[in-house]
Amino acid sequence: MSLNLFKLDGRIALVTGSGQGIGLAMAEGLAAAGAHVVLNGRDKAKLEAAQGAIAAAGHKVSIAPFDVTDQKAVEAGVAAIEAEIGPIDILINNAGTQKRGAFVDFPAEDWHFLVATNLHSVFYVTQAVAKRMAPRNRGKIVSIGSVMSKLGRPTIVPYTATKGAVALMTQGLAAELGKHNIQVNAIGPGYIVTELNKALIADETFSNWVKSRTPVGRWGETKELIGAAIFLSSEASDYVSGHLLMVDGGLTSVV
Ligand code: NDP
Repeated sequence: MSLNLFKLDGRIALVTGSGQGIGLAMAEGLAAAGAHVVLNGRDKAKLEAAQGAIAAAGHKVSIAPFDVTDQKAVEAGVAAIEAEIGPIDILINNAGTQKRGAFVDFPAEDWHFLVATNLHSVFYVTQAVAKRMAPRNRGKIVSIGSVMSKLGRPTIVPYTATKGAVALMTQGLAAELGKHNIQVNAIGPGYIVTELNKALIADETFSNWVKSRTPVGRWGETKELIGAAIFLSSEASDYVSGHLLMVDGGLTSVV
Protein backbone atom coordinates (compact mmCIF):
# COMPACT_ATOMS: atom_id res chain seq x y z
CA MET A 1 0.00 0.00 0.00
CA SER A 2 1.21 3.47 -0.87
CA LEU A 3 2.01 5.76 2.01
CA ASN A 4 1.64 8.71 -0.34
CA LEU A 5 -2.16 8.70 -0.31
CA PHE A 6 -2.30 12.27 0.97
CA LYS A 7 0.44 13.71 -1.26
CA LEU A 8 -0.65 16.29 -3.84
CA ASP A 9 2.59 16.67 -5.80
CA GLY A 10 1.99 17.72 -9.39
CA ARG A 11 -1.65 18.74 -8.74
CA ILE A 12 -3.02 22.20 -9.39
CA ALA A 13 -5.56 23.42 -6.82
CA LEU A 14 -7.81 26.47 -7.16
CA VAL A 15 -9.09 27.70 -3.79
CA THR A 16 -11.67 30.49 -4.04
CA GLY A 17 -11.70 33.20 -1.38
CA SER A 18 -8.24 32.25 -0.18
CA GLY A 19 -6.66 35.60 0.70
CA GLN A 20 -7.57 35.08 4.35
CA GLY A 21 -9.42 32.87 6.84
CA ILE A 22 -10.41 29.28 6.16
CA GLY A 23 -9.54 29.53 2.44
CA LEU A 24 -6.00 30.71 3.15
CA ALA A 25 -5.42 27.98 5.75
CA MET A 26 -6.63 25.28 3.34
CA ALA A 27 -4.49 26.74 0.54
CA GLU A 28 -1.42 26.68 2.82
CA GLY A 29 -2.20 23.07 3.71
CA LEU A 30 -2.66 21.94 0.11
CA ALA A 31 0.59 23.71 -0.85
CA ALA A 32 2.46 22.01 2.01
CA ALA A 33 1.07 18.67 0.74
CA GLY A 34 2.71 19.40 -2.63
CA ALA A 35 0.02 21.08 -4.74
CA HIS A 36 0.55 24.19 -6.82
CA VAL A 37 -2.14 26.37 -5.26
CA VAL A 38 -3.93 29.19 -7.02
CA LEU A 39 -5.24 31.83 -4.64
CA ASN A 40 -8.44 33.69 -5.53
CA GLY A 41 -10.31 36.68 -4.16
CA ARG A 42 -11.19 40.22 -5.22
CA ASP A 43 -8.37 42.01 -3.40
CA LYS A 44 -5.17 41.58 -5.45
CA ALA A 45 -2.90 43.12 -2.80
CA LYS A 46 -4.18 40.69 -0.17
CA LEU A 47 -3.62 37.75 -2.53
CA GLU A 48 -0.08 38.94 -3.29
CA ALA A 49 0.71 39.10 0.43
CA ALA A 50 -0.60 35.56 0.95
CA GLN A 51 1.28 34.39 -2.16
CA GLY A 52 4.52 35.84 -0.76
CA ALA A 53 4.11 33.96 2.52
CA ILE A 54 3.35 30.60 0.86
CA ALA A 55 6.21 31.04 -1.64
CA ALA A 56 8.57 31.95 1.22
CA ALA A 57 7.74 28.58 2.80
CA GLY A 58 9.06 26.98 -0.41
CA HIS A 59 5.74 26.04 -1.98
CA LYS A 60 4.23 26.59 -5.44
CA VAL A 61 1.62 29.35 -5.52
CA SER A 62 -0.04 31.69 -8.03
CA ILE A 63 -2.85 34.19 -7.79
CA ALA A 64 -6.02 34.59 -9.86
CA PRO A 65 -7.99 37.63 -8.72
CA PHE A 66 -11.61 37.51 -9.88
CA ASP A 67 -15.09 37.95 -8.46
CA VAL A 68 -16.79 34.56 -8.10
CA THR A 69 -20.24 36.17 -8.49
CA ASP A 70 -19.40 37.35 -12.02
CA GLN A 71 -19.83 34.44 -14.45
CA LYS A 72 -17.80 36.06 -17.25
CA ALA A 73 -14.95 36.86 -14.87
CA VAL A 74 -15.04 33.29 -13.54
CA GLU A 75 -14.85 31.76 -17.04
CA ALA A 76 -12.00 34.11 -18.04
CA GLY A 77 -10.17 33.46 -14.76
CA VAL A 78 -10.43 29.67 -15.02
CA ALA A 79 -9.40 29.74 -18.71
CA ALA A 80 -6.35 31.86 -17.83
CA ILE A 81 -5.29 29.49 -15.02
CA GLU A 82 -5.51 26.49 -17.35
CA ALA A 83 -3.61 28.30 -20.14
CA GLU A 84 -0.88 29.80 -17.96
CA ILE A 85 -0.44 27.30 -15.10
CA GLY A 86 -2.05 24.05 -16.22
CA PRO A 87 -5.13 21.85 -15.76
CA ILE A 88 -6.99 22.34 -12.48
CA ASP A 89 -7.07 19.01 -10.60
CA ILE A 90 -8.64 20.30 -7.38
CA LEU A 91 -11.30 22.97 -6.86
CA ILE A 92 -12.17 24.22 -3.38
CA ASN A 93 -15.31 26.38 -3.44
CA ASN A 94 -14.63 28.38 -0.29
CA ALA A 95 -15.54 32.01 -1.06
CA GLY A 96 -18.57 32.96 0.95
CA THR A 97 -20.00 35.42 3.37
CA GLN A 98 -22.62 35.84 6.06
CA LYS A 99 -25.30 38.35 6.97
CA ARG A 100 -27.55 38.01 10.00
CA GLY A 101 -30.90 39.47 10.90
CA ALA A 102 -34.50 38.66 11.72
CA PHE A 103 -36.11 36.94 8.73
CA VAL A 104 -39.20 39.15 8.65
CA ASP A 105 -37.04 42.28 8.30
CA PHE A 106 -34.27 40.77 6.18
CA PRO A 107 -33.60 43.11 3.21
CA ALA A 108 -34.13 41.47 -0.17
CA GLU A 109 -30.87 42.97 -1.45
CA ASP A 110 -28.98 41.16 1.35
CA TRP A 111 -30.75 37.91 0.37
CA HIS A 112 -29.65 38.39 -3.26
CA PHE A 113 -26.10 39.24 -2.14
CA LEU A 114 -25.88 36.07 -0.03
CA VAL A 115 -27.30 33.85 -2.75
CA ALA A 116 -24.87 35.35 -5.28
CA THR A 117 -21.80 35.04 -3.05
CA ASN A 118 -22.50 31.63 -1.49
CA LEU A 119 -24.43 29.81 -4.21
CA HIS A 120 -24.19 31.39 -7.68
CA SER A 121 -20.43 31.34 -7.11
CA VAL A 122 -20.45 27.57 -6.62
CA PHE A 123 -22.49 27.12 -9.80
CA TYR A 124 -20.23 29.39 -11.89
CA VAL A 125 -16.86 28.14 -10.68
CA THR A 126 -17.82 24.46 -10.55
CA GLN A 127 -19.28 24.59 -14.05
CA ALA A 128 -16.20 26.34 -15.49
CA VAL A 129 -13.85 23.83 -13.83
CA ALA A 130 -15.92 20.61 -14.14
CA LYS A 131 -16.42 20.96 -17.90
CA ARG A 132 -12.62 20.99 -18.23
CA MET A 133 -12.08 18.16 -15.72
CA ALA A 134 -14.64 15.83 -17.34
CA PRO A 135 -12.76 15.09 -20.60
CA ARG A 136 -9.59 14.55 -18.56
CA ASN A 137 -11.44 11.94 -16.51
CA ARG A 138 -10.16 13.11 -13.14
CA GLY A 139 -10.89 15.76 -10.56
CA LYS A 140 -11.70 16.67 -6.98
CA ILE A 141 -14.30 19.27 -6.09
CA VAL A 142 -14.83 20.34 -2.48
CA SER A 143 -17.34 22.99 -1.43
CA ILE A 144 -17.46 24.66 1.96
CA GLY A 145 -20.82 24.25 3.58
CA SER A 146 -21.46 24.86 7.27
CA VAL A 147 -23.19 23.45 10.31
CA MET A 148 -25.99 25.50 8.76
CA SER A 149 -26.05 22.98 5.89
CA LYS A 150 -27.75 20.67 8.39
CA LEU A 151 -29.33 22.78 11.13
CA GLY A 152 -31.49 25.88 11.48
CA ARG A 153 -30.85 28.84 13.80
CA PRO A 154 -32.74 32.08 14.34
CA THR A 155 -31.43 35.21 12.52
CA ILE A 156 -29.40 33.28 9.96
CA VAL A 157 -32.10 31.80 7.70
CA PRO A 158 -30.86 33.13 4.31
CA TYR A 159 -27.29 31.96 4.99
CA THR A 160 -28.70 28.57 6.02
CA ALA A 161 -30.63 28.38 2.74
CA THR A 162 -27.44 28.93 0.72
CA LYS A 163 -25.38 26.42 2.71
CA GLY A 164 -28.13 23.80 2.64
CA ALA A 165 -28.23 24.20 -1.12
CA VAL A 166 -24.45 23.76 -1.35
CA ALA A 167 -24.75 20.44 0.51
CA LEU A 168 -27.47 19.07 -1.79
CA MET A 169 -25.71 20.44 -4.87
CA THR A 170 -22.70 18.42 -3.74
CA GLN A 171 -24.78 15.22 -3.74
CA GLY A 172 -26.26 16.00 -7.15
CA LEU A 173 -22.86 16.78 -8.62
CA ALA A 174 -21.41 13.60 -7.14
CA ALA A 175 -24.17 11.65 -8.88
CA GLU A 176 -23.64 13.39 -12.21
CA LEU A 177 -19.86 13.69 -12.36
CA GLY A 178 -18.91 10.29 -10.92
CA LYS A 179 -18.75 8.77 -14.40
CA HIS A 180 -15.95 11.24 -15.20
CA ASN A 181 -13.97 10.09 -12.13
CA ILE A 182 -14.66 13.42 -10.43
CA GLN A 183 -15.31 13.15 -6.70
CA VAL A 184 -17.48 15.93 -5.26
CA ASN A 185 -17.67 16.49 -1.52
CA ALA A 186 -18.31 19.24 1.02
CA ILE A 187 -16.89 20.29 4.36
CA GLY A 188 -19.13 21.64 7.12
CA PRO A 189 -17.11 23.85 9.49
CA GLY A 190 -18.45 24.69 12.93
CA TYR A 191 -17.74 28.06 14.56
CA ILE A 192 -14.25 29.02 13.39
CA VAL A 193 -12.22 32.07 14.44
CA THR A 194 -12.03 34.29 11.33
CA GLU A 195 -12.72 37.89 10.26
CA LEU A 196 -16.22 36.80 9.27
CA ASN A 197 -17.04 36.08 12.92
CA LYS A 198 -15.20 39.05 14.47
CA ALA A 199 -18.34 40.62 15.93
CA LEU A 200 -19.64 37.28 17.24
CA ILE A 201 -16.32 36.46 18.91
CA ALA A 202 -16.33 39.87 20.61
CA ASP A 203 -19.87 39.23 21.90
CA GLU A 204 -19.14 37.39 25.15
CA THR A 205 -22.64 35.94 25.50
CA PHE A 206 -22.58 34.54 21.97
CA SER A 207 -19.00 33.30 22.29
CA ASN A 208 -19.81 31.48 25.53
CA TRP A 209 -22.91 29.97 23.90
CA VAL A 210 -20.68 28.56 21.12
CA LYS A 211 -18.34 27.02 23.70
CA SER A 212 -21.18 25.48 25.72
CA ARG A 213 -22.98 24.22 22.58
CA THR A 214 -19.87 22.62 21.04
CA PRO A 215 -18.87 19.26 22.61
CA VAL A 216 -15.14 20.06 22.47
CA GLY A 217 -15.91 23.28 24.35
CA ARG A 218 -14.25 25.90 22.15
CA TRP A 219 -14.22 27.71 18.82
CA GLY A 220 -12.33 26.05 15.99
CA GLU A 221 -9.18 27.34 14.32
CA THR A 222 -8.71 27.74 10.58
CA LYS A 223 -5.82 25.23 10.56
CA GLU A 224 -8.27 22.58 11.78
CA LEU A 225 -9.89 22.54 8.31
CA ILE A 226 -6.63 21.52 6.61
CA GLY A 227 -6.85 17.77 7.25
CA ALA A 228 -10.33 17.49 5.74
CA ALA A 229 -9.30 19.61 2.73
CA ILE A 230 -6.23 17.44 2.03
CA PHE A 231 -8.19 14.20 2.49
CA LEU A 232 -10.96 15.24 0.09
CA SER A 233 -8.41 16.56 -2.45
CA SER A 234 -6.20 13.49 -2.46
CA GLU A 235 -6.12 9.89 -3.62
CA ALA A 236 -7.11 8.95 -0.04
CA SER A 237 -10.71 9.89 -0.90
CA ASP A 238 -11.01 8.34 -4.38
CA TYR A 239 -14.06 6.27 -3.28
CA VAL A 240 -15.64 9.09 -1.25
CA SER A 241 -18.16 11.23 -3.13
CA GLY A 242 -21.30 13.16 -2.20
CA HIS A 243 -20.22 13.40 1.44
CA LEU A 244 -20.56 16.36 3.81
CA LEU A 245 -17.66 16.06 6.25
CA MET A 246 -18.41 17.99 9.43
CA VAL A 247 -15.45 19.70 11.09
CA ASP A 248 -17.44 21.18 13.93
CA GLY A 249 -16.11 19.87 17.25
CA GLY A 250 -19.11 17.54 17.38
CA LEU A 251 -21.69 20.36 17.27
CA THR A 252 -24.09 18.73 14.81
CA SER A 253 -23.99 15.43 16.71
CA VAL A 254 -25.83 16.71 19.80
CA VAL A 255 -29.33 18.05 20.41
P1 NDP B 1 -13.69 35.35 5.53
O1 NDP B 1 -14.66 36.46 5.43
O2 NDP B 1 -12.57 35.47 6.52
O3 NDP B 1 -13.05 35.07 4.11
C1 NDP B 1 -13.89 34.98 2.98
C2 NDP B 1 -13.03 35.05 1.74
O4 NDP B 1 -13.89 34.99 0.61
C3 NDP B 1 -12.23 36.31 1.65
O5 NDP B 1 -10.91 35.96 1.31
C4 NDP B 1 -12.90 37.10 0.53
O6 NDP B 1 -11.91 37.83 -0.18
C5 NDP B 1 -13.49 35.99 -0.32
N1 NDP B 1 -14.65 36.43 -1.09
C6 NDP B 1 -15.81 36.93 -0.61
N2 NDP B 1 -16.62 37.27 -1.64
C7 NDP B 1 -15.93 36.99 -2.78
C8 NDP B 1 -16.24 37.14 -4.15
N3 NDP B 1 -17.40 37.65 -4.57
N4 NDP B 1 -15.32 36.74 -5.07
C9 NDP B 1 -14.13 36.21 -4.65
N5 NDP B 1 -13.80 36.06 -3.36
C10 NDP B 1 -14.69 36.44 -2.44
O7 NDP B 1 -14.56 34.04 5.80
P2 NDP B 1 -14.22 32.61 6.43
O8 NDP B 1 -12.83 32.25 6.16
O9 NDP B 1 -14.73 32.60 7.80
O10 NDP B 1 -15.22 31.71 5.57
C11 NDP B 1 -14.81 30.97 4.44
C12 NDP B 1 -15.95 30.04 4.05
O11 NDP B 1 -16.26 29.18 5.14
C13 NDP B 1 -17.25 30.74 3.68
O12 NDP B 1 -17.90 30.05 2.63
C14 NDP B 1 -18.07 30.64 4.96
O13 NDP B 1 -19.45 30.71 4.73
C15 NDP B 1 -17.65 29.26 5.42
N6 NDP B 1 -17.86 28.99 6.83
C16 NDP B 1 -17.24 29.75 7.79
C17 NDP B 1 -17.42 29.46 9.12
C18 NDP B 1 -16.76 30.23 10.21
O14 NDP B 1 -17.10 30.00 11.38
N7 NDP B 1 -15.83 31.14 9.92
C19 NDP B 1 -18.33 28.37 9.54
C20 NDP B 1 -18.93 27.65 8.45
C21 NDP B 1 -18.69 27.96 7.16
P3 NDP B 1 -12.12 39.31 -0.81
O15 NDP B 1 -13.06 40.04 0.11
O16 NDP B 1 -10.77 39.88 -0.85
O17 NDP B 1 -12.70 39.05 -2.18
